[in-house]
Amino acid sequence: MNNRQLADGLKRILNLRWLPVAMRLMRPGEEVPRGVYEPEGRIRHCQSIALARRGNSMYLPPRRHACPDGAAILGLVPMSPKLRSGELYLLFKKLPNLECAQKMIASRPEFPAGSYAASVVAPLEEAEYQPDVVIFTLWPEQAMWLCAASTYATGERQEFQTSGYNSTCADLTVKVMTSQKMNISFGCYGARASSDVEDFEVYVSVPYGNLISLAGALEKLAVKSIPEARRRIYMPPVLDKVAISGEKEALAVDIVIDAERCSGCGLCAAFCPEALLYVRDDKGKKTVEVKNASDCCVCYTCAGQCPNKAIQLRVLSKRPREESRDE
Ligand code: SF4
Ligand code: SF4
Repeated sequence: MNNRQLADGLKRILNLRWLPVAMRLMRPGEEVPRGVYEPEGRIRHCQSIALARRGNSMYLPPRRHACPDGAAILGLVPMSPKLRSGELYLLFKKLPNLECAQKMIASRPEFPAGSYAASVVAPLEEAEYQPDVVIFTLWPEQAMWLCAASTYATGERQEFQTSGYNSTCADLTVKVMTSQKMNISFGCYGARASSDVEDFEVYVSVPYGNLISLAGALEKLAVKSIPEARRRIYMPPVLDKVAISGEKEALAVDIVIDAERCSGCGLCAAFCPEALLYVRDDKGKKTVEVKNASDCCVCYTCAGQCPNKAIQLRVLSKRPREESRDE
């Protein structure tokens, strides 16, 4: 699968607003990839990601990097003593004291100065090089599906490391290249002050080597889970009516099966987590019956999974007094 096919699949399934960005750090002496251009001015690493997700392909040696912190974290230039000491974080009022600033700086992932000669960014679909990481700008629901796809592929829970500082350089580039694991960042002062990332958007960075298995897992999730979740299939029709208004009230649930619509397929019974539904076969005519409706947890799974919309849940308030009268 090539980069364009990968990008097309990711855009389709995740319904992406922004193009995924292929980011590579080039070693000294490496040839500049085809199709990328050196910009005229200086820009920050976070700005280069913002420009690439809008379709720009760029090659940025140190003379084109505007953020001294970011360029040093990427291993392109030495860190200035003033940045290394942490004093600027105090001036910006981003950290309370030097001890805190130095602790944050010491624990921050960064490459040694001179490790790399340039950064290269381009939309994944146009990248004619092998990126180190692919950076997504997402809303949280899309980030959730990338996270779920990673768990789908490995069975592992995801662990993220971020600090709210140095997001695109430390969190999304260095951290992901060194750990070879996906990472999330909520952005940082620099990335939010100098790029067009929206308040409701977050970043996810994925090691390029994991992207094919991740895209494959997303394809599988797109068969059922993603469209169902996006259709909100378990949302009760009138959500606010489910609330219990008084301490003495309990809920009673009426599980109503429309016999005309029910085909007897048994999906509701298969999915019910409380095993309250079963299919009765009466001389070839299959119908669904409910047992112990009072155990229903009102999860709406049966109604959501029914292909014929044959199930309705009626949730009613029931006072204990009324219960005893029934008995
Ligand atoms: S899922 Fe719907 S159609 Fe299938 S058995 Fe249940 S109620 Fe009937
Ligand atoms: S709402 Fe949930 S617990 Fe109740 S019958 Fe349907 S699937 Fe079972």
